[in-house]
Amino acid sequence: MLHDNRDYLTQLDSAIGDADHGINMDRGFQAVKEKIPTVANTDIGSLLKMVGMTLVSTVGGASGPLYGTAFLRAAMVTSNKNELYEADVVRMLEAALEGIKARGKADVGEKTMVDALVPAIAAMKEAEQQHVGMTKLLQRGSDAAEAGMKATIPLLATKGRASYLGERSIGHQDPGATSLWLILQALAETCA
Ligand code: ADP
Ligand code: MG
Repeated sequence: MLHDNRDYLTQLDSAIGDADHGINMDRGFQAVKEKIPTVANTDIGSLLKMVGMTLVSTVGGASGPLYGTAFLRAAMVTSNKNELYEADVVRMLEAALEGIKARGKADVGEKTMVDALVPAIAAMKEAEQQHVGMTKLLQRGSDAAEAGMKATIPLLATKGRASYLGERSIGHQDPGATSLWLILQALAETCA
């Protein structure tokens, strides 16, 4: 998914950044893909830990440490698990969000990946409380992330490289919110 959207993400980053987000994400997840065989027989926590460590060491930029931390935090709450239930997924994404916030100090409304992840978690949490099954829960999360991503367009960036543009960041969709949505969409589609 990220490979297919490499040019799209880079194009978004060329408007309010340095035109490398697609390149960064593609490089990182390509490296992850190559390492998948090394974690074939481990638990979900070990798999996510490999993803986080690989992203930290290959992605670079702001998004590398942010996504790396997200996956490392997700790994901590899924260690020794071989299956995830709806509540586990919510917990996993909450841990990821805490990691992103701890590292980047961004909150909702600052035009970052946080703006896609926060509504996604809220939608999934609500679905989980309504005992909605996994496939639908993930789809609702992905849809909420997409809405959050679109809602970054009118926002003024106050974190990361886009914040250097000040008012000129208004009117553009945030690349990191877009990659966050793509990841959740891939998760939902894979589960479905
Ligand atoms: P860089 O900005 O270093 O070139 P990327 O282009 O790969 O890194 O990633 C840019 C994305 O990172 C932004 O679109 C934004 O979503 C996200 N981002 C930047 N700074 C922060 C932060 N402090 N907190 C959360 N997300 C951030
Ligand atoms: Mg960039």
